[in-house]
Amino acid sequence: MRKYLFFIILSLFALTGCDSMQKYDTQFYDVFDTVSSLSVYAKNEEEAKQYQKAVHERLLELHRLCDPYNGYDGINNIKAINEAKGAELEISDDLHNMIEYGINAHKKTDGAINIALGATLEIWHRYRSEALEGKEAAIPTKEELESTRALDNISAVELTKNGVRITKSGTALDLGATAKGYAADEALKLLKEMGCDSALINLGGNVGCYSGSAHNKPWKVGVQDALDPDGLSDVIEISDGFVVSSGNYQRFYMYNGKKMHHIIDPETLMPAEGMSGTTVVCGSGADGDMLSTALFILPKEKGIKLAEEYGAQRIYLTDADGRLEKYPAVTEEN
Ligand code: ADP
Ligand code: MG
Repeated sequence: MRKYLFFIILSLFALTGCDSMQKYDTQFYDVFDTVSSLSVYAKNEEEAKQYQKAVHERLLELHRLCDPYNGYDGINNIKAINEAKGAELEISDDLHNMIEYGINAHKKTDGAINIALGATLEIWHRYRSEALEGKEAAIPTKEELESTRALDNISAVELTKNGVRITKSGTALDLGATAKGYAADEALKLLKEMGCDSALINLGGNVGCYSGSAHNKPWKVGVQDALDPDGLSDVIEISDGFVVSSGNYQRFYMYNGKKMHHIIDPETLMPAEGMSGTTVVCGSGADGDMLSTALFILPKEKGIKLAEEYGAQRIYLTDADGRLEKYPAVTEEN
């Protein structure tokens, strides 16, 4: 009898081990103006649903905080900060972290990443929306853009211990270049805290994953082909880490045969030229998001050096003509 019992316990262990885990997939359509997907390993659907619900709530919370267009009751978000007319607003730790990260990124990128670019981005947003609504495509005049240059001033963003204040009237924050990466970090952190064995999240090109190896095979992440977004430039096998992409194919309209996209070079105040797609493989979602955007704007060598300083493991750059370069360079054999 004892032997028999031992056998049953062993079988139970085998059943509840890694192999009994199943992958559950879901998508979210209401966060960060993009399609997001989440894959979690769980013992059963009930457990998977708990993970999905918790991640969705956390993403919604971060989405609302970063929203520059809509206000929400009881939340001091980016819209509220931009409209505070010089008053200091108390903000959550999340917003504090993100703004602090942005101020630091401005220094590290010599201003290529500027979270105080909101006034200029708003002009481009208006022109893009009108073109996408079917009006005749146009671009802002030089004077229109130059009128906001003085407002794109990161020194007007004053962080205090628990709050923030914008000291220049008209200066506006926009966290679009880094928010999804921070959110991907936070989603994976939450899943780990909840005891989820293995997960992959994709927030509109900000892919983060962990413990692919717990199931004896790494996650596979496709790198979108910048010139043919339905195709792939490469497939990366990764167990733990982030694969983050920025592209001129995501938010754009056509004007005189040119793609007027959403990554703005703070020097020219025009859509950054030179790249059509950038991808970074690294250990942090926030860094990956910031770097993929910075690589789009900075001169190539400077961008690569910066990414290396941040410990990026791989970089994919597709230039405007569709030429793909990988760093470190790899040959077919390795
Ligand atoms: P996506 O949001 O499509 O993933 P990115 O991560 O590259 O793309 O971020 C682009 C967004 O960042 C823009 O939509 C805008 O909100 C903001 N942005 C554009 N140019 C800059 C810039 N030079 N510095 C900081 N933020 C920027
Ligand atoms: Mg980015």
